[in-house]
Amino acid sequence: MDFERPEIIRPPSEWKSYFLPLTNGCSNNTCTFCGYYGKKLQMRDMDEVKREIDALSLYMESGIQLPGIPKIVYYVAQDWDGKRVFLQDGDALIYPFPRMKEVLQYLNEKFPNLERIACYATPQDILRRSVEELKTLKGLKLTIFYTGLESGLGKILEKVGKGVNSSQMLEAGRKVKEAGITFSVTVILGLAGNEGSEEHAKATAQILSELEPEYVGALTLTLVPGTPLYQEWEEGHFHPISPFKSLQELKMIIEGSNFTNCFFSSMHASNYWAIRGRLPQEKERMIEELEYLLNRKDPSLLRPEFLRGL
Ligand code: SF4
Repeated sequence: MDFERPEIIRPPSEWKSYFLPLTNGCSNNTCTFCGYYGKKLQMRDMDEVKREIDALSLYMESGIQLPGIPKIVYYVAQDWDGKRVFLQDGDALIYPFPRMKEVLQYLNEKFPNLERIACYATPQDILRRSVEELKTLKGLKLTIFYTGLESGLGKILEKVGKGVNSSQMLEAGRKVKEAGITFSVTVILGLAGNEGSEEHAKATAQILSELEPEYVGALTLTLVPGTPLYQEWEEGHFHPISPFKSLQELKMIIEGSNFTNCFFSSMHASNYWAIRGRLPQEKERMIEELEYLLNRKDPSLLRPEFLRGL
């Protein structure tokens, strides 16, 4: 079967990157809220990856476009500054280690001015790699992992099919730190529904504080048609939180956190309010901002539903 190029779904901070697919889908396709649920993982042939790197390099040097290369390559390349690459897809760290190493070496060879390479990595992917392997990848400029923690509540991780518990998540975080790789962790507001909201926010603040990642990104749950969680909602078994309750969760996570130095943001398009700041330094300012919104309860201040994205 031919490799199907995935859609570009990226962390907000990767907007300047070139998007190079190594896989399509995610090896842990059991998360009941995720669009990858039940989707078969596809690994891209390494020669095909190298052909794309060659075509990209030729285009960057001379503007020449080769036949047979997907148009998206040149579309993304026209605004690319040659400094950052984001490896797609849902957990590109699943790509077999020797092949990953070779792709990274090739990227470094063709683009010596690369500053960093990034990818999504599940806790399972990280646990599968030794610290030495992770250090090797870091040496080849794979210097940041984006990982979904989603919730600090064990029962929610289990319910949504995350496939790891909180202590495995902490172990994965420890390995990433030991390898010197930057860790960017996402959590999902509203994942425990209305009833579990407070418990979810408190437990999430606690595990985030233990993990101490360099970056935390909060997302707000968006129900994706075709997923089991969507079905649960349709059947009336899952009760989503309100937009203001998502701000309440955000505030509780910030309040309950105990970081020494972390950049926290809710810039992702799924959120009703975008807030960002360094914690603990800007904790008070961020809490005040959220309190103001929670007191006003004015829906016109929030991102409208139709502008929310995944
Ligand atoms: S691990 Fe992440 S990308 Fe994979 S199915 Fe779960 S939420 Fe989706």
